[in-house]
Amino acid sequence: MDDCIFCKIIKKEISGEFLHEDEHSIVIKDLYPKAKTHLLILPKKHIPSVIELEEGDEKIAGHMIKVAKDLAEKLGLKGYKLQINVGKDGGQEVFHLHLHLLSTFA
Ligand code: 5GP
Ligand code: ZN
Repeated sequence: MDDCIFCKIIKKEISGEFLHEDEHSIVIKDLYPKAKTHLLILPKKHIPSVIELEEGDEKIAGHMIKVAKDLAEKLGLKGYKLQINVGKDGGQEVFHLHLHLLSTFA
């Protein structure tokens, strides 16, 4: 999507550090962290939110959790929260699906 900030980051039209990249996803630091560690797992496919997940997207959705788990392990986080805000009324501000990885550990 042309006007999507996360698509621009994924396409490297906006500079930003990738903590992880694979065929289906990238991981970036949240620009306005709400915890000591606050990362965002983004699918490369532009899916606006959980509401728009389509048949066949299960693999992508599951993959996001696996990426979060592997990265948390790599970073040595003792515990963490995974959060997805769904829709404007669910607190979602950026309409490109993302999984928050939040931890009081760094
Ligand atoms: P949401 O409320 O949509 O679940 O979360 C969007 C998150 O994206 C927020 O935590 C916000 O701080 C973060 N964010 C907004 N704009 C940018 C940006 O340009 N770059 C990065 N890395 N994070 C952003
Ligand atoms: Zn997008």
